[in-house]
Amino acid sequence: MAFENLSSKLQETFKKLKGKGKISEKDLKEAMREVKLALLEADVNYKVVKEFISSVKDKCLGANVLESLTPGQQVIKIVNDELTTLMGTSESKLNFSDTGITVVMMVGLQGAGKTTMCGKLALNMRKKNKKPLLVACDIYRPAAIKQLQVVGSQIDIPVFSMGDKVKAVDIAKAGVAHAKDQGYNFVIIDTAGRLHIDDDLMGELKDIKAEVKPSEILLVVDSMTGQDAVNVAETFNNEIDVTGVVLTKLDGDTRGGAALSIRHITNKPIKFAGMGEKMNDLEVFHPDRMASRILGMGDVLSLIEKAQQSIDEKEAKQLTDRMMNNDFNFEDYLTAMDQMKKLGPLKKVMEMMPGAGGKELEGLDLEASEKQLDKTKAIIQSMTLKERRNPSLVASSAQRKKRIANGSGSSIQEVNKLIKGFEMMRKSMKQIKGLQKNAKKGLFGK
Ligand code: GDP
Repeated sequence: MAFENLSSKLQETFKKLKGKGKISEKDLKEAMREVKLALLEADVNYKVVKEFISSVKDKCLGANVLESLTPGQQVIKIVNDELTTLMGTSESKLNFSDTGITVVMMVGLQGAGKTTMCGKLALNMRKKNKKPLLVACDIYRPAAIKQLQVVGSQIDIPVFSMGDKVKAVDIAKAGVAHAKDQGYNFVIIDTAGRLHIDDDLMGELKDIKAEVKPSEILLVVDSMTGQDAVNVAETFNNEIDVTGVVLTKLDGDTRGGAALSIRHITNKPIKFAGMGEKMNDLEVFHPDRMASRILGMGDVLSLIEKAQQSIDEKEAKQLTDRMMNNDFNFEDYLTAMDQMKKLGPLKKVMEMMPGAGGKELEGLDLEASEKQLDKTKAIIQSMTLKERRNPSLVASSAQRKKRIANGSGSSIQEVNKLIKGFEMMRKSMKQIKGLQKNAKKGLFGK
């Protein structure tokens, strides 16, 4: 999970502070020492850590936290604010061209996740009603063009390519002309990556930049490489003056060193984060929400946005109505489970809940819960349509239960458990409805 190690260390430190009614200067000093160590272990740049700690200390003194009634909370708030500032304060939006076609150059080293990010960004833009076109300019790495085409076909977004015998700058130019011609208004140029930064690569990127005059040059870096990512970002930025940074593989970055240092070192905003290998695993980078996740306060706003994007609102409303009217059947249950799945693996959803960062998830076997959901799905899928629509048919027939158990590779007990759980859910819905009715009648006051 993103920032897992850093998150649990910081939370442990703050737990100690929160437990105290009053904190002494010594307590504060010790806490700051622990925060410093946690940040250094997270591979945050040394200079950044030093400035961070000094700023937190100043703010604590300025706010008179030692005299405060809730000193622990105050320190956490200050650290939260400073973490947010460190990562950029507020969301940094993409620059769009006002001439009709926005051109974005994606740059970065090989393996950073550039091609994947081209696809994610294209998909994200289409959701925002843009018409994206991908342009394949990596003419060096074998199969790079093919990889972009595969990504494009996965999300049904066209890829402009001219093979690997034409100069990258000419492909970029022709790609933009093609977009103009064909009515695309968002062009994403996948440039070549190298294993290391070299003059040829930088020369080529400068040529493309001069030719297509992009609205954005986004530098894609692998957050799991920590300080290396920061160094790469510094060099790229000095050479071609990028407009923003995209952090990939943040889902696997337990430390967070790159995320916490890159903005401060390069003075360029982090615009997006890659949170997985799938095309939907893209997040707009919100420094405040990231800080909140690091401190275990969850990120409910992102979760809601994700739900809004992934879930069909009309379908959800129909489901709730059916639930409330007690019409809810096994078919609806299947739909509800599918909707939930669209939010992603349970673990990722849980990580966004307040108090569920780091250690709290350790005791929970979320994979087992996920498997249980699959099992439930298999059982329901082994029912006939008639049975799914009339749950009582199954409940009253041992023969049907046996057939369903056999069909889904489960035991009769498991089928019984599902039916029982389902009945209980219907009963609770009935009760909730009853309460709502009474509330309307005014039984619970005005
Ligand atoms: P490129 O060489 O920079 O174009 O990198 P690719 O797009 O080919 O990605 C390299 C590898 O990283 C692939 O296996 C991707 O699936 C994986 N990858 C890319 N972005 C992410 C991400 O956000 N999270 C995770 N876990 N893997 C990613």
